[in-house]
Amino acid sequence: MGASEQGGQEESGTYEGGCHCGYIKFSVTLSPPLPEYTVMNCSCSGCFRLGYLLVYPKAKDVVWHNDGRKRCASYRFNTKTKDQMFCPKCGTSIGIDFEAVHKEHTYGISVRALYGINIDELNYKKLKGVTRVEPAYDLSGHIWDEEKQEMR
Ligand SMILES: [Zn+2]
Repeated sequence: MGASEQGGQEESGTYEGGCHCGYIKFSVTLSPPLPEYTVMNCSCSGCFRLGYLLVYPKAKDVVWHNDGRKRCASYRFNTKTKDQMFCPKCGTSIGIDFEAVHKEHTYGISVRALYGINIDELNYKKLKGVTRVEPAYDLSGHIWDEEKQEMR
């Protein structure tokens, strides 16, 4: 666990994470720490199927071990601007890389990829992404029709 509350700094916690087979590993610092952090449980088509329960660290607060970011395979849907990161060997969902869409580079990291976390003890916000909660382009639940090259 990380820093203290001295000097007006918010409390934070650092967690090790990775995929199931160990090919991808990283550490992430969250402020506030788990379990105070509000984890996003979104019902959009992507989050639901990929099993995401997301926290949103800044890129500087994510340290990829052994070049782990480059080891991630990626999947893109909807606006096709964000990498949905997963392990190419074991298939574990890691999260979302928002580099192309957020002014400040952030990630969405799935707490399911963190080690030693009891997800029953976390604090969640349910987001009805499936009914188009902002930002709609992320969470609309629409499907990209590859054949027609349009949303439906
Ligand atoms: Zn793996």
